[in-house]
This record gives sequence, C-alpha cells and structure tokens, in this order.
Amino acid sequence: MVTVALSTPAETKPKPIAPVFPFLDLQAQFQSIRDEVMDAIATTMQSQRFIFGPEVQNLESEIAKYVGCKFAIACASGSDALLLALMALGVGPGDEVITTPFTFVATAGSIARLGAIPVFVDIDPVTYNLDPREVAKALTLNTRAMIPVHLYGLSAEMKPLLEIANAEDIDIIEDAAQALGASWQGQKAGDIGRVGCFSFFPSKNLGGAGDGGIMTTNDADLADRLRLLRVHGSRSKYHCEILGVNSRLDALQAAILRVKLPHLETWTERRRANAERYRALFSEMKLNDHVILPTEPAGTRHVYNQFVIRVLERDELREHLMQSGIPTEVYYPEPLHRQPAFSHLGGVFPEAERASREVLALPIYPELTEAQQTRVVSTIAEFYTRN
Ligand SMILES: *Cc1c(COP(=O)(O)O)cnc(C)c1O
Repeated sequence: MVTVALSTPAETKPKPIAPVFPFLDLQAQFQSIRDEVMDAIATTMQSQRFIFGPEVQNLESEIAKYVGCKFAIACASGSDALLLALMALGVGPGDEVITTPFTFVATAGSIARLGAIPVFVDIDPVTYNLDPREVAKALTLNTRAMIPVHLYGLSAEMKPLLEIANAEDIDIIEDAAQALGASWQGQKAGDIGRVGCFSFFPSKNLGGAGDGGIMTTNDADLADRLRLLRVHGSRSKYHCEILGVNSRLDALQAAILRVKLPHLETWTERRRANAERYRALFSEMKLNDHVILPTEPAGTRHVYNQFVIRVLERDELREHLMQSGIPTEVYYPEPLHRQPAFSHLGGVFPEAERASREVLALPIYPELTEAQQTRVVSTIAEFYTRN
C-alpha cells in the first residue's frame, strides 16, 4: 500500500510547545466509566435498534427530570435544537430575533438560516451575557423572539428579559448549550424560557461520542411540534403534516449519554470546586490586580463549562502560557457582527469587541488536579512578575 505523507508548509512562527496536559481531558473521563460505556454500546449493537427506541425515550425523560421541566425532545445537535425551536415558534422571513454577538456562530446562524434577522445587542461586561438594557432598546414591531445565551455555564440575568418578553409578547429561547445544570433563582437553565436548547457536543458538560442535542419545554403543544419537526414533520411514516427536517439523536448516542448523566452532578461539583481553587490560587499569588475572574451573581449556579479570566494583555499572556506548555483557549476571538457571514447586519458592540480581545479560558474539566491548577496560576504569576 502506498501512503501519501501530507506535507506541511515551512513554519515561520516558533513551534508551539506541546502542552504538559490537555485543555480538556476526555480520556480521563472515559477511563473512569469505560466499562459502563462499552456495555451500553454493546447492548445497543446487539439490539440493532438505532433510530429512536427506548434509549432515546429514556434519555428524554431523564433530561426533562434533571432540568425540572415537563418535556425534552432529543435532536441531532445543539445547533439543530436552536433551529427547530425557532421553526416550532413560527419564526421566519422578516422576523427579528434579538441575541448576542458574543457567542458561538450557531446562535445567530439558526436565526439567519430561517430568513429571519438576527438583531445583535451588546453584552454586560461582567457576565458576558445579554445586557437587558440593550435588549429593551432593540425592540421593534417585528421582534418575535430573543435568544439569551448562558455563556460559559452562567445563566443570563433572566428577570428583566422575562419582563420584556411578557410585556411585548415575544418568546425566549434559551441557548443553554453550555449550561446544563446551571440555575437562576432556583430554576434550571432550559426551564425558564419557552424552549431551552442544549448540546451534547463532546466539549459540553454532558458530552456524547459525537454530535447531539435536546430541547426542553413545559408547553405540550410546542413539544408536539418539536417532535414532529425533527422527523420531516411526519407523525406517521410517509405522511408529511408540516415541513420539517431530519434531526434525530442516535440511539447509540442516547445510550452513552444515559451512562454519563448520573455522573453529571459529581462532575459539575468538581468543576465548581476547581473554580473555587482557582480563586484561592489567584488571590494567594496576588494576581487580583491584573486578572478579572468570572463572577457568580447571587442566586445563580455557574456550571463552568469554561473558566474564563479577563486580562488586558491577553495575547501576550496566552503566548507565555503556550511557551510554558499550558493550554488555553479563546471563546470567542471574533464577535459575530465582525464575521463575513453577519457583517452586512452592521452595528457596533464595544463590550463584545473588548471581551473578544481580553478573555482567556483556562482548563477547568472535572479531572483537573490541584498540581495542574497551581502550575497554571504560577505560570500566570511568572508572566506578571516579568512584565
Ligand atoms: C456548542 C454550542 C452550540 C451548538 O451546539 P452543537 O451541538 O455544536 O451544534 C450553540 N450555542 C452555543 C453557545 C454553544 O456553545
């Protein structure tokens, strides 16, 4: 057999140092539940039942119970969850949907894909979530819905958003892709608006072995419409009631996710404990003048899908960490209104732009060790001692 080596162009920049540990260690988590996962896969393979079936149904009721709402409808991805939610609410051409430009592309992409108009409003610089005052200013007669994103695992400030939604009769779709298990005033993310949208992408707090998503709601008619839309709008085979799409969650994914779900609270508590440890370390190493740490406003439960710090000299610090083998990420380096697919919408959002230059995500996964966290923070301390 002939193998073709892919040649890489000559490097101009210094080669990045291999990280001393991964940004997200999916291996560590898998090894801790390996036998259960392999059993679930074997059972599903043995059944040869791949489309819907008991695994998907059971996952739906378990997620509904976990989120504390009446219905959960699984689908193929978090992006599809947003798309299906908008479709079920009848959002279409000409409708305006208010959202944040400081998010993953799918949030606004789902709106634009339906011919509706994403109306960006700026974020609150402390929570990185939709600024309710800006939402109020962006309302027009065409506003049909809003999509607050619970970014990094922290719920948006929902009270003013709910007040606006009620007064203006518009729907709230929660983009809770990063926030399974998060809560606001005792209510779980996904149980606050009309629909909650979650993702099972491997890097999310409950990650599958590939793509997957789920929608939550307390509205029986809406749940029925969502269930219909994810299978071509057909209740019975080859009879199409409304125009839908093919967006099912595989039984294999559901089986794997059902193994993981009972561990989610433990993993979330570890993420939260790691966040507390970071706080202690940053304070011990006297970095609080340089580094802004994430906030957890009273009445919220942050689930730290990401632990994001904020620094003025972000790119220099990131380079220093990389050269020391410490992995970091930037969510998100370019706000959506600056990207070619959305730039025609116009607008200036200074807080989103400033955040995109200053945020830096540190490793926070449940299996992260104290030694690793100490290494992260002492490498940051080293940067500030030198500069
Ligand atoms: C991950 C994510 C999505 C999309 O989820 P997929 O399952 O990857 O399609 C949407 N919104 C936000 C905020 C996300 O983080």
